[in-house]
Amino acid sequence: MSGIYIHIPFCKTRCSYCDFFKSTKLLYREQYIEKLLEELRDRRHFFGSRKNNLQTIYFGGGTPSLFSEKSIDNILNTISKNFPVADNAEITLEVNPDDLSPEYLKALRKTGINRLSIGVQSFYDVDLQKMGRRHDAMQSRRSLEWVFQTGFENVGIDLIYGLPWSDGSTFLSNLDILSNYPVQHLSAYHLTIEPGTQFGKLKRQNRLSEPDDSESEKIFWALHDKAAEMGFEHYEISNFCRNGLYSRHNTAYWDNVPYLGAGPAAHSFDGTKRYWNKSDLNQYIKQGFSAGISCETLTLKDRFNEYLMLRLRTSKGMNVDEVKKNFESYWNRIEPDINKWIQKEFLEKSDGYIYGTRKGWFVIDAIIEDLFILE
Ligand code: SF4
Repeated sequence: MSGIYIHIPFCKTRCSYCDFFKSTKLLYREQYIEKLLEELRDRRHFFGSRKNNLQTIYFGGGTPSLFSEKSIDNILNTISKNFPVADNAEITLEVNPDDLSPEYLKALRKTGINRLSIGVQSFYDVDLQKMGRRHDAMQSRRSLEWVFQTGFENVGIDLIYGLPWSDGSTFLSNLDILSNYPVQHLSAYHLTIEPGTQFGKLKRQNRLSEPDDSESEKIFWALHDKAAEMGFEHYEISNFCRNGLYSRHNTAYWDNVPYLGAGPAAHSFDGTKRYWNKSDLNQYIKQGFSAGISCETLTLKDRFNEYLMLRLRTSKGMNVDEVKKNFESYWNRIEPDINKWIQKEFLEKSDGYIYGTRKGWFVIDAIIEDLFILE
């Protein structure tokens, strides 16, 4: 198993809450593609002697749907010439509703894209305007109709909750609208106000603040319950799927499967070492990825902490036998703390797995931090 992540670091404008690495200088797109193809060719031996086919390819950003079908096709052709791709590979494109049209969607299907992740964020114009999104609610509804008319079956949407001006009931009514479409995947993220964003500036001026934790937790569980009624499995803290159509690409990250990330700011993992490309678009375009790549070998402690962090965020949790086998000494060190959290009913142990309870899952990041091995 392995996967490739393609970073498309361009957006038409900046959303008010977003601190992802991206640029609004769209005129560099063609030069960018050249360097990206070069990186894919140069790193064709990244997975070493492993003969496993690529199981997933994921175009994320930024806004991948700013690229023409020709560019997407060009990237996919370069990948298949340089890496063995499984016949049933999951090939995902993140798209924004305002970039979609029936013609573009038909052309995307021909390139081999078989999964779409649509950045809907909310079906309410007031939310979209305040978040600085470029699309409106009508564009989201229309693009969902086009997507299914075109024949895409594996379609997910992103929503954001915890908006300072909105209450839980407004957020949940997004799910009523969603129920009109055969969407198979839902990613629902709580808004985080990051310092370097427009929202961060408003927060510093005391003009915006996140809702308090108890309000956020109420929405989290109401979302969980309502999504369950709609047939969604809540398989990771921010992710839900129907009919077993979880994101194979993201699940592979959580399972520590090797992946190659191409483009500035993209991370890669070969099973032992982590690599990251410099977050510098200008340098990437001028000199390519190799001028800015960094690397670290993960120690056993790093891998253990990562295992905890990734697994306890999933509903399945961590497998006790697996953790004992791979990290015995660290397991012995954290077992008393695990038991403490089990006694307090924040964690539960059942069928050989440890996972967050209803009381614990929403605050799982704090529990993970408590369990981290620091030295
Ligand atoms: S479209 Fe996505 S990546 Fe671009 S600014 Fe908005 S949230 Fe960030």
